[in-house]
Amino acid sequence: MPVVGVLALQGDVREHCAALEKIGVEVREVRVPAALEGVDGLIFPGGESTAIAHLLNTSGLREGLASSIGDGLPVFGTCAGLILLSSKILDGRDDQWSFSALDVTVRRNGYGRQIASFETVVDINDLGEFPGVFIRAPKIESIGQTVSVLATHDHGDGEHPVLVRQANLWGCSFHPELTIDTRLHEAFVASL
Ligand code: GLN
Repeated sequence: MPVVGVLALQGDVREHCAALEKIGVEVREVRVPAALEGVDGLIFPGGESTAIAHLLNTSGLREGLASSIGDGLPVFGTCAGLILLSSKILDGRDDQWSFSALDVTVRRNGYGRQIASFETVVDINDLGEFPGVFIRAPKIESIGQTVSVLATHDHGDGEHPVLVRQANLWGCSFHPELTIDTRLHEAFVASL
């Protein structure tokens, strides 16, 4: 049974843990570098990317995580977690950093502010219709050649990727952990 970590510094930690427990994997909340030991895959939750980035520095997790990701640790970044994995952030804070691991350019709050949050049905390759909950979601503006698009959404300005995968790294603009549908968590775990 794989051990799946949830980066537990800020954000939708409890919801991701609940989804993983529901599908029967061993869940580990990761707050300190030692907790990464033996983890087969990791989820970066939604929340506030600047706050998580700050806590990654103060917890000492940033360096170890950067090297684990470089060594191929599978990571699924949802919403703010996608921003943290991305190679380029538009409309971020001036000092905002990311792991530059997943070759996508994201625009922070690209679907609008909190008040513009919305739910829609997202059509995911191989999975079909999935509830997409978008809350101050990052918009994927462009992707590198090694990135596969697993789902797109047209918010009135053309289709933009909302779920992508590049080898071991997954990212989505929406919040699968805020629905009762665990199929995306299952797909990530099945890939470990
Ligand atoms: N806009 C948030 C950020 O920049 C992300 C929102 C979310 O995770 N729901 O971190």
